Amino acid sequence: MEICTVGGFEEVGKNMTAVKVDEDVFIFDVGLHLPAVIELQGSENPKQQDRSEKDLRRVGAIPNDRILDKLGWKDKVRAIIISHAHLDHLGGIPYIAYRYPEAEIIGTPFTISVLKSILRDDKLQIKNKIRIVNTNSTNIIKGKSGSYKLDFIHITHSTLQCSFPALHTKKGIFFYGLDLKFDNYPTLGNPPNYKKMRELGRKGINVLIVDALYSRTEKKPGGEMVAKHLLEEAFSKARNKTSALFITTFSSHIERLNNIVEFGRKTNRKIIFLGRSLNKYVNSAIEVKLCPFRKKIILLKYRNQINSFLKKVEKDRKKYLIVCTGHQAEENSILDRITRGETPFKFRPGDNLIFSSSVIPTTPNILARERMDKRLRKQGVKIQTDVHVHGHGSREDLRDFIEMLKPKHIIPSHGSIELISPMIELAKEFGYKMGETSHLTSNGQTFKF
Ligand SMILES: [Zn+2]
Repeated sequence: MEICTVGGFEEVGKNMTAVKVDEDVFIFDVGLHLPAVIELQGSENPKQQDRSEKDLRRVGAIPNDRILDKLGWKDKVRAIIISHAHLDHLGGIPYIAYRYPEAEIIGTPFTISVLKSILRDDKLQIKNKIRIVNTNSTNIIKGKSGSYKLDFIHITHSTLQCSFPALHTKKGIFFYGLDLKFDNYPTLGNPPNYKKMRELGRKGINVLIVDALYSRTEKKPGGEMVAKHLLEEAFSKARNKTSALFITTFSSHIERLNNIVEFGRKTNRKIIFLGRSLNKYVNSAIEVKLCPFRKKIILLKYRNQINSFLKKVEKDRKKYLIVCTGHQAEENSILDRITRGETPFKFRPGDNLIFSSSVIPTTPNILARERMDKRLRKQGVKIQTDVHVHGHGSREDLRDFIEMLKPKHIIPSHGSIELISPMIELAKEFGYKMGETSHLTSNGQTFKF
């Protein structure tokens, strides 16, 4: 089994790993790098579809998969397997899937629906065959050197239908462990499929690529139940009956949105979702029948619709709860435009804004949020931040993960060297030796196991 660590081993974003067994190559995830992700998630920039593969490559926004040409793997790619619907895992597919015309794209119903909506919105096309599989399913991929069993194992994270794909080969199992959080009491959907993980652990996992983003953090992230309590508290503090009430969160976090709607209904305000990326994810959830709040909200997508609606909010601000984009202060997001005075609605002193998110710790994000927070303070808005728990497991989750899977080799992923190297230390506690059975790598490296 040969592994090429294509992207996501030096940064948070553009995740991509390729696995070669005999004459068959399998790609796991093709993501976008964070700055581009943010631009996509919150942006209503009409120029969005002008982005070309060339531009994205130039700025390093997509994985440098040309390494596969050099290795002679390019024409052997049989499948592109997507772990979940986040843009740092699938956002690169529209731009590079054409290079692998024989590869079918495999993902869960929600993931594929999001991919298709990105293609539609950005007026892009791919010709690859698409296969929709459910979590906790076993599938067969036909290769030149035989057939391969592919498990899609259900895992909790921070969007719908997340999975760990595990590829069974005659050289052992390749387990793609991105992204994860062990939430035993999710407020929507099922807990992780530990049984299957243990079963594969007993069977023999050769290589584990693991989400080590929070491997240095001791503190276990709270489950979504904790976020739910935080939301309840935040809503109770924002009870002013005459002011505007806004809340913003990650558009792909359907479970969180469901909890927002639950508490939002208790305010007796009409709940309106504003923004392009919210539309994208909520409509995908509706399409796959996993949106419990679909009848309880109104979704608005287009700028003229949004502006004429915001005119109504300006006149009758106590009537609505607005769920909108802009938690990272993305350019052209709803919050960005409102705080710049570009919409018919203007914040007034005493209006409430809840951030059910935390700032993604990259310099552009931090700066953008600082600038927006300054504007919000000037406008007298009552802000509640970090009403949020994140979706990545910490050191103790990763310890449980290693115990369950007992892989022969561990490769930490999903961050810079500084972020992911504590995983190597943790692995050492289990007897893994760096350079022999645990491997700290960079983008574009190959390994033979
Ligand atoms: Zn993710």
